[in-house]
Amino acid sequence: MTQALLALAGNQNSGKTTLFNVLTGSNQHVGNFPGVTVEKKVGQIKALKEAALVDLPGIYSLSPYTNEEIVTRDFILKEHPQLIINIVDATNIERNLYLTLQLMELQVPMIIALNMMDEVIQSGNSIDTERLSKELGIEIIPISAAHKQGINELIRAIKKMLKQPQAIPKPDFCTGEVHRALHAIAHIIEDHAKQNEYPLRFAATKLVEGDQVMQEALQLHEDDIHIIEEIVRSMEHALSTDREAALADMRYSYIEAICNDSVCRLQETYSQQRSEKIDRWLTHKYLGIPIFIGIMLTIFYITFSVVGGVLQEWLEIGIEAFSEQFSLLLSNMHVSTWLHELLINGVCSGVGSVLSFLPIIVILFFFLSLLEDSGYMARVAFVMDRSLRKIGLSGRSFVPMLIGFGCSVPAIMATRTLSSERDRKMTILLTPFMSCSAKLPIYGMITAAFFPSHTAIILVSVYLLGILVAIISGFLLKKTVFQGECVPFVMELPAYRIPAAKSVILHMWDKAKDFLHRAFTVIFAASILIWFLQSFDWQLHYLNDSSQSILASIGSMLAQILAPLGFNDWRAATALISGITAKESVVSTLSVLTQGNDAMLTQALPQIFTPLSAYSFLAFTVLYMPCIAAFAATKRELCSWREALLTAAYQTTAAYIVALLIYQIGSLFL
Ligand code: GDP
Ligand code: MG
Repeated sequence: MTQALLALAGNQNSGKTTLFNVLTGSNQHVGNFPGVTVEKKVGQIKALKEAALVDLPGIYSLSPYTNEEIVTRDFILKEHPQLIINIVDATNIERNLYLTLQLMELQVPMIIALNMMDEVIQSGNSIDTERLSKELGIEIIPISAAHKQGINELIRAIKKMLKQPQAIPKPDFCTGEVHRALHAIAHIIEDHAKQNEYPLRFAATKLVEGDQVMQEALQLHEDDIHIIEEIVRSMEHALSTDREAALADMRYSYIEAICNDSVCRLQETYSQQRSEKIDRWLTHKYLGIPIFIGIMLTIFYITFSVVGGVLQEWLEIGIEAFSEQFSLLLSNMHVSTWLHELLINGVCSGVGSVLSFLPIIVILFFFLSLLEDSGYMARVAFVMDRSLRKIGLSGRSFVPMLIGFGCSVPAIMATRTLSSERDRKMTILLTPFMSCSAKLPIYGMITAAFFPSHTAIILVSVYLLGILVAIISGFLLKKTVFQGECVPFVMELPAYRIPAAKSVILHMWDKAKDFLHRAFTVIFAASILIWFLQSFDWQLHYLNDSSQSILASIGSMLAQILAPLGFNDWRAATALISGITAKESVVSTLSVLTQGNDAMLTQALPQIFTPLSAYSFLAFTVLYMPCIAAFAATKRELCSWREALLTAAYQTTAAYIVALLIYQIGSLFL
């Protein structure tokens, strides 16, 4: 039996992913943050085996201005879903219906899932869904995705609709001049629309709006285009507005008419009122950024010094005990010395040194997902927007940058939400300066060895350094390579919400899984390789003294280049190279090269670094080129080896210059 294809479409932050997860039982990332879902995701509806559901990215309209809009529109037009489930945020119904009206023009059977009804009811508001449904001519199911209410009704409606698809009423809201223009254009393009399989009404509307993509897709003749433009011009003249505003006005006045008082009684909901009060402080013009830094300081302090630090020590003790027992077992089994060394000083020491950072990562992501799910991160974006604008980026770029604090790979992919090529390239270049979570073990290692009583301050300074370098780079690039203005961006602030436990736990689990996966694949392999290269010389003699090894001879050459930065040591140089495979690998490499477990690593590090050169090393690791996976993502998104290599070169040069400044200027004072 062929599968029915259902599309889930709606505004950003209307709860699409939450509903998708409820219906399919999957665990996609839900965030109280516009722009979390960039790619469409497919899942099976649990209660409806014969249907596949696609979670489309959130959009406000069907114009081809942003990538999300194009993805959604192409999907509906080209994949021909049997049914659209339009999810509408009931607390924001008028703006949400704007998209609904456009979806109706596509003439695909549709059901409205009116979400967030819990908030509407809680604040004493009401929506007469029956009357609204009659007005629109579309079935409306009130639901609350987060509380799993109304889901059965929704599934029943979906089943019914699949069995007997209801035609979508032709939205009858066009009046006067627009009406005339639409019909005249529809007449001209009728054949073209049919040939290219576009719904006529939709195609005509898009041409009135001046949609270039549609114009090309319809393959119109020069003459026809000319006539259409003439029609539109006379409409604009008669209405004395421009073409897009004319349609927007028409849609909004229709929405206003059907959402009159008898249908929707909507005062501000509690959560909206509460949000306004909180925002008076958190988005304050001057206090906004200091409050953000204060919150981050507190989080780092709790993560590293209080909870995570203790858990990490326990884990270290456990790993050490394991490695001792394992070593004993190997001795009893009389395995050869080199294999014993490889397993204990290579694998156990390398993987173990990274593994012990698991609690810190999980706890940090616990806090970050609280910040994100509560809606606070969206405020930070808002506060940062002004500063971003100064360096020639739109506030939209903040989303990828924020994701960059987790991992650069999805962050670089998230730049697809940016509509301008210029903004995109610049964001791809700058995002890796946001310190990713894989670098945390490096910070943990260095602070434990050199700055045990100033951990939080050092960490915040390192993060801020990354941000600062991004800002300065932004300025420079704006003046040179990427001239031009950023695309204006209006960001909508979601209401503050209590984070859902499930979503937070999921987020932590995702991080932990990813981290463990890397520890046992990339770090595992890198540890073995590093161990081999440091245990043998070029003639492949097994060595006791690694300073004669293959690795030492390669590392020493590089160390000379790095000498002005303060770390003239082949082990530091090698660690930086292996950090390109995965950033955690810097830690496992140093651990393997100093032949010990974590406690010994802390003691061994002062042979390699002074506190000043350790800080300069930290600065270098924050800024230099990202790991191979992120580099591959850069190449994929930029579609050019040359640009990807230039990007990596820029990042590494920036790292070199900054570390050089830190070490040389610092040496004057210390
Ligand atoms: P998407 O951007 O459309 O995919 O929206 P998400 O599914 O990521 O949800 C956005 C936010 O709305 C999250 O904080 C959800 O927890 C919250 N949310 C989703 N559905 C409901 C609901 O029915 N009631 C309430 N109160 N919150 C919801
Ligand atoms: Mg989503």
